[in-house]
Amino acid sequence: MTQSTHFRRVLAEYTYTVPPVERGYTGQTLYVNLSDYTIAAKPVTDEMKEKFIGGRGFGLWLLWHGTRDNTKWNDPENEIIISSGPIGGITQYPGSGKSLVVTISPLTDIVIDSNVGGHFGPLLKFAGWDAIEIQGKADREVIVVIDGQKGRITIEEAPDAPVDTHLVGEWLIRQMAEKEEDRYFMSAVSAGQGAEHTRIGCLNFAFYDRRRGAFRFKQAGRGGTGTVFRDKRIKALVVKSPPVRADSVHPADPERIARAGMRLHKEIHDYDDSQNRMRRRGTTYLVQIMSDYDLLPVHNFKYGSHPDAVKINGDVWEARFTQGLPDGCWYGCTMSCSHAVDRYTVRTGPYKGQTVIVDGPEYETVAGVGSNCGIFDPDAILEINFYCDTYGIDTISFGTLTAFVMECYEAGILDKEKTGGLELRFGNADAAIELLHQMARGEGFGKIAGQGVRFMKKYFVEHFGADPQFVQDIGMEAKGLEYSEYVSKESLAQQGGYGLTNKGPQHDEAWLIFMDMVSNLLPTFEDKAEALHYFPMFRTWFGLVGHCKLPWNDIIPPDNKYTPEPAKIPAHVQNYVDLFSGVTGKEITREDLITMSERVYNFQRVFNLRRGYGRREHDNVPYRSMGPVTVEEYESRAERYDRQLRELLGLDPTTMTTQEKLAALRKYREEQYERLKDAVYARRGWTRDGVPTVETLRRLGIDYPDVVAVVQRYL
Ligand code: SF4
Repeated sequence: MTQSTHFRRVLAEYTYTVPPVERGYTGQTLYVNLSDYTIAAKPVTDEMKEKFIGGRGFGLWLLWHGTRDNTKWNDPENEIIISSGPIGGITQYPGSGKSLVVTISPLTDIVIDSNVGGHFGPLLKFAGWDAIEIQGKADREVIVVIDGQKGRITIEEAPDAPVDTHLVGEWLIRQMAEKEEDRYFMSAVSAGQGAEHTRIGCLNFAFYDRRRGAFRFKQAGRGGTGTVFRDKRIKALVVKSPPVRADSVHPADPERIARAGMRLHKEIHDYDDSQNRMRRRGTTYLVQIMSDYDLLPVHNFKYGSHPDAVKINGDVWEARFTQGLPDGCWYGCTMSCSHAVDRYTVRTGPYKGQTVIVDGPEYETVAGVGSNCGIFDPDAILEINFYCDTYGIDTISFGTLTAFVMECYEAGILDKEKTGGLELRFGNADAAIELLHQMARGEGFGKIAGQGVRFMKKYFVEHFGADPQFVQDIGMEAKGLEYSEYVSKESLAQQGGYGLTNKGPQHDEAWLIFMDMVSNLLPTFEDKAEALHYFPMFRTWFGLVGHCKLPWNDIIPPDNKYTPEPAKIPAHVQNYVDLFSGVTGKEITREDLITMSERVYNFQRVFNLRRGYGRREHDNVPYRSMGPVTVEEYESRAERYDRQLRELLGLDPTTMTTQEKLAALRKYREEQYERLKDAVYARRGWTRDGVPTVETLRRLGIDYPDVVAVVQRYL
């Protein structure tokens, strides 16, 4: 028996006529201000569609106009914008249900964009809105309900709504689903108590899993989006849409979309088992490959492989995941990589003894909270995965910052007295789990650690006498964001893939390690710069249209290797041309995909400049991401590094101490990185200081007076 929504106290109400979706767009965005309870519709202009497309582009556009240069993450003025994109919501092509979250990050003080699966973005569109823009800060705990069946939006008091995410699913069913079928077309966004006390809060996006009869969750993990959400005192955003149909986005050319979809479905059906086995093990297939190529982060990115990787590799997770279920995080995704471990019994903390579904783990979680922390116990990884999700904590930031803490502990910067009794050595899973509970409670050493690596570096210097250079070298953050989980030491292009980003070191912009390091396809600076132009722009495109990146290159047509540029997967790029044109009716070329992204990418760079960042100095990276910091690290790969000293620098390592060798290698690698910056900035049409030129803005059609005025401050 479900309970009517009338039992919750309504603070503000807005009624509307649900518009039809036409060629991927509803033509309006929803504005909600929690300080004064304003609810309003804003039109989507042709300019927005033409230049900013949707998703991350709409988020940036709305945030640019909604905030000032110095708006802080916890000012009421900061906004959270969620938008899918014109392709988001189609069901014929795998991976077409992503949402993008955009806000000013508590970790970086610049704009963060984080992509996420789950049903919220597409259902928001079918409820009549291309985006939701939330501003203000409530004076009490609230939920925002968008009822696209009734054409009614409410801001409601929510004293009984849970904060922790694994409880939200049951609550949604009990409180909000008036009939069984409602569950299929409902979604919620929530965070958790961990997001309240840390800067690494994530957002959980729900989708109803019909086979399991339960809501499941995908995470918008990066940059503290959940922290902003809880700071606004939102417990949940809930959307209920009319029933989803195959043509709900009303595409211009449904047959063209269906043909592209059939091509990819067939590839997945025919080749996934012999390629990455995503349908059985998701992204965990990467664990063993990364370890084999010395790219798996181990002990705070010190090493790239570990013999115990076999204990947490894809074979292990394939055996743990429930098989045979359609684990797509949006309708029609036959990649089905959103696996879960069912019936996991929680071992610690407030939910000890409960039997739960753990969503994941994905590669990043296994590598981050597992190998990078020296933890090779699958149950410990599941325990941390479950609590990170329900507490609303980003598993990547948690893994990277815990690994940093562990190295500091082993280096003597921390001890039991400073950590309140936690023996945070590599491999101590119990201590890592307790650290997580402390973060959620906002207590003890967990409260300090939850502020992120950048905060801790300063704190450890000021309070614990740490060597500033050492913590700077080993603290794996750039721009304030913790690194995602790949070792980039031997790939200069990937060092740029992490460092020369807009939001911080997240691999969704560029993942060039194999092209650069394994296949040696990028021998010159110009080659690397070209790749660091094309791939970040190409990958940005997914975030504009509401698409998942994985079906682009985690499944590959067998004849791809015979194409002139196999790394781009040309057949799939053509599919995206067909999807975009098929939905919107606007004919585009493959080159247009890059220009669309380049426009938004440059706009985001200017947004960073507007906030006082976004120049050359802000693209610096910690030395651990470039090369060995410590003697033990050098000596663990001495043969490789000695060879490089001989071949690249003409030095004789037999006459040098390890300290001298470390210094020589460091000087060389840091110079290489600076040369890479020069080459990439030139290719992107930026100055040597990393500032887009007015000519670049003009070429891209974003030379608006307020945008030009920002870059002119630095030219
Ligand atoms: S490939 Fe995986 S993450 Fe991407 S949409 Fe499909 S199920 Fe979701």
